[in-house]
Amino acid sequence: MGLGAPAVEGLVSAAGPACRFCSAPLTQTFVDLGLSPLANSLVAEEDLAREEPRFPLHACVCGSCLLVQLGEFASPQDIFEDYVYFSSFSDTWVEHARRYVEQMIERFGFDGGSRVVEIASNDGYLLQWFVERGVPVLGVEPAANVAAAAEAKGIPTVVRFFGEQTAGELVAEGGPADLVIGNNVLAHVPALNDFVAGLKVLLAPGGILTMEFPHLLHLIEKTEFDTIYHEHFSYFSALTVGRVFGAHGLRLFDVDELPTHGGSLRIYATHAAGSPHEDTGRWAELIERERAAGLADLATYARFDERVRAVRDGLVEFLEDARAEGGSVAAYGAAAKGVTLLNYCGIGPELVAYVADRSPHKQGLYVPGVRIPIRPPEHVGETKPDYLLLLAWNLKDEIVEQMSLVREWGGRFVTPVPEVAVHA
Ligand SMILES: [Zn+2]
Repeated sequence: MGLGAPAVEGLVSAAGPACRFCSAPLTQTFVDLGLSPLANSLVAEEDLAREEPRFPLHACVCGSCLLVQLGEFASPQDIFEDYVYFSSFSDTWVEHARRYVEQMIERFGFDGGSRVVEIASNDGYLLQWFVERGVPVLGVEPAANVAAAAEAKGIPTVVRFFGEQTAGELVAEGGPADLVIGNNVLAHVPALNDFVAGLKVLLAPGGILTMEFPHLLHLIEKTEFDTIYHEHFSYFSALTVGRVFGAHGLRLFDVDELPTHGGSLRIYATHAAGSPHEDTGRWAELIERERAAGLADLATYARFDERVRAVRDGLVEFLEDARAEGGSVAAYGAAAKGVTLLNYCGIGPELVAYVADRSPHKQGLYVPGVRIPIRPPEHVGETKPDYLLLLAWNLKDEIVEQMSLVREWGGRFVTPVPEVAVHA
């Protein structure tokens, strides 16, 4: 297991939970989703008799720095060691990665003399495109089974958790990185300051760092509460991520707004001093937009919990009405957000018969907590449900296209947020 997990910084002091960035006490609830099982701990048939552990899913906002975060969590080893998510099972995501690599090579001129390091490189879904263009790469991936899949594809990958110590070792072993990539990892880091300090260590002078993560502005505006799960410790606005990176000597010089995961940011950072990369002005514009949306005001965060309860009530009412009318409902996408949504709303197999998912690693298992069976997508054609609830609503267009046969028997697609909606 390489170096093992990084030390967990002072999250719980004698005075109660403390902010993972600034250490101020956490006293303000953002949203309390109750007790929920770990989203990736899918349940095998033979374990159905055993109750899986549940942990509080209670997001707080720091009254001092406004970082939205989970105050309590399971250990990273529990979460990552047998991780079943293989990025390559989503066509949309692999294509997103391919376009990113093309853009980066075109804009910054990476070539055979560059060094690209991706943190949480998964099964090589992204680095494969750099390899194809002849750019040297290294993946850093804490889940051994996923890293093995990358190695099998010819992507050099080390199995380690990333932090300041790992960064120092990677520099000693292969030199600093001209490009450091982290997609959907920043939010998953328990020891945030150690992680960002590591980015600073790994980055070559004049190097670039890009990170993608769900944008808190969208989570709040579109009530995307189901993107909150235990593996996802921090929820960033541009305001807070700028504060965290700035504290570690890194400067944001550009940002892209992406449709992935319901609305994500791709931030571009470089060393605060001595870097040639000039501000594009888009970062400052985004900060202004967040201020206008109230993200600098604690009151905006304090109102969120009540809005989430209204979404839950609307979805449960829809499913109960469908059942009362004799309609059948299946769901699509056994991703983490589905686990949060189904458990928080208390939706079990009596309301949603099964969850279809393309990943053979998930088929035959059960959604933790609510114990809904996971079936291959072909099961939808065999059972012809009246409604297909899209738990992976962030991939709606891809799924609607793949599952267009649902319309053959008059079935309809349903999305749960920002409020339940039925699509013709
Ligand atoms: Zn704080």
